[in-house]
Amino acid sequence: MAFELPNLPYAFDALEPHIDAKTMEIHHGKHHKAYTDNLNKAIEGTDLEGASIEEILKTGTGNPAVRNNGGGYYNHNLFWEWMSPNGGGEPTGELAQTINDTFGSLQGFKDEFAKAAAGRFGSGWAWLIKKDGKLQITSTPNQDNPLMPVAEVQGIPILGLDVWEHAYYLNYQNRRPDYVTAFFNVVNWDKVAELYKG
Ligand code: MN
Repeated sequence: MAFELPNLPYAFDALEPHIDAKTMEIHHGKHHKAYTDNLNKAIEGTDLEGASIEEILKTGTGNPAVRNNGGGYYNHNLFWEWMSPNGGGEPTGELAQTINDTFGSLQGFKDEFAKAAAGRFGSGWAWLIKKDGKLQITSTPNQDNPLMPVAEVQGIPILGLDVWEHAYYLNYQNRRPDYVTAFFNVVNWDKVAELYKG
């Protein structure tokens, strides 16, 4: 059973003005589609065929095609859900408390996350992960993911931000920090809380 490109949970223009419709259309329909198709090609006829995507990320990264496309497939599946037309604002409940305890405040978290996003040279992702029950910020190159054994810091990703130029260049050009600020206006804290609870 091959992996399928999931539908976006909202319209291409639903995140405007923060994330523009054209970027969403190309990002989902071309980039995410290509990761999906190339992952299927990379695992076809191997013993990874039929495995869950999490299992593939944990065991298949010795093959660069599986590592890059498996990561790209999985990271974007979550990325669309980490944003919402009703997003932004503040987290609530236990997640809000843990963010405050870990980073001092929501602003403290945002500052550190933005620093990880800005500091990732070239293409990659900034992450908020759960590790041994605690929150931690990290980043990965390319389409790597904290679930992969090759990741410098491993854990369960509960929030991720795509900082590849394809994610922001049409609207923000070289202004990655402006894109990070825009992302906070559409963050789907409900999804983050769901993943935090596990
Ligand atoms: Mn992307």
